[in-house]
Amino acid sequence: MGLTQALPSVPFVDLSRQHAPLADEIDAALRGVIEKSAFINGPEVELFESEWAEFCEAEFAVGVGSGTAGLFLTLQALGIGPGDEVIVPANTFIATALAVVHLGAKLVLVDCDQEAGTIEVDATARAQTKQTRAIIPVHLYGQAADLEPLVALAASENIVVVEDACQAHGARYRGRRVGGIGQAGCFSFYPSKNLGALGDAGAVVTNDGNLAKRLKLARDLGQARKYEHVMSGYNERLDTLQAAVLRVKLPHLDRWNALRRTHAVAYQEGLAESGVKTPSPATWGEHVWHLYVIRSSSRDGLADGLGGSGVQVGFHYPTPLHFQPALRGLGYRAGDFPHAEAWSRELLSLPMFPELEKDEISRVVEAVSSLPTVVTAVR
Ligand SMILES: *Cc1c(COP(=O)(O)O)cnc(C)c1O
Repeated sequence: MGLTQALPSVPFVDLSRQHAPLADEIDAALRGVIEKSAFINGPEVELFESEWAEFCEAEFAVGVGSGTAGLFLTLQALGIGPGDEVIVPANTFIATALAVVHLGAKLVLVDCDQEAGTIEVDATARAQTKQTRAIIPVHLYGQAADLEPLVALAASENIVVVEDACQAHGARYRGRRVGGIGQAGCFSFYPSKNLGALGDAGAVVTNDGNLAKRLKLARDLGQARKYEHVMSGYNERLDTLQAAVLRVKLPHLDRWNALRRTHAVAYQEGLAESGVKTPSPATWGEHVWHLYVIRSSSRDGLADGLGGSGVQVGFHYPTPLHFQPALRGLGYRAGDFPHAEAWSRELLSLPMFPELEKDEISRVVEAVSSLPTVVTAVR
């Protein structure tokens, strides 16, 4: 430690700032569940489900244990298994892919769009075969993937589109909330997501009543009635305490997303001349800025320099899926997904959360601007 203390650090995310003003309400919600002792499938679960469905402009929401569980249960409920192929972008959190792997289906990776970073439509069309049963577009960083052409591709071939909306609570695609545009949309309420629980939690939204019914069975050991198990389900319920907390937080989500948007604008303006490549949001959607991700060909030096200035940064994600040891068996090689690989080398996530202060953004902007950066034009 040096003798002089630099400016206090700018945190990447600070959840305590979000929870402090809600502390009394959250306490009361938790106490309410404890007093009723309705810990499993308590009334808060169903109440949250209907509120979440309404927020997403979808007919049904089914609470589950996590975003990962939601993806797995949804694909399984849609009948996907061995012999089926599922198309997933190479640049996503590994959970998107593991759901496919755990079902014994074949994971087919495709490249991302060089500008948007979301799944590339042409690459998806090229990857399609007679065995393709599902496409999982990921609304990466809070920006909707280009759903319309994907839904059109899928519609003609009996292929389902399952949206991975785990980073995109409240985002819109051509005016509509994401999640309910494909056959289903999976959300995570991991604490640092745009809507976060106090632990693991997730939900699936859909307009397909049959799918919602199957998901409710699958998450609860296949129980149609107590001790009547009509399928071999799982224990992947949404915890009642988490549902109660999510009900306290949901009314603030649109405001929090608006604050994130304000911060993104401040970054865009502040960093315009800095030499880093700032995000260029696609025209088809309304971004909710789960992450603010810049690119620089001297990313590692930039990250070190920012660390030295007390700015916490993140990498989402430093390793594309085809380079992950867990997925080595797929047989992909370096160079297979050049856009995803370039993103992984150049990306850097700056602090982004609703309660970020103006002067903190200024400090991040100053820190980035004072460091040598090189913009790479990726071709
Ligand atoms: C967070 C996340 C998940 C997994 O959600 P969990 O609730 O942590 O299981 C899946 N996909 C993406 C893109 C995510 O960001």
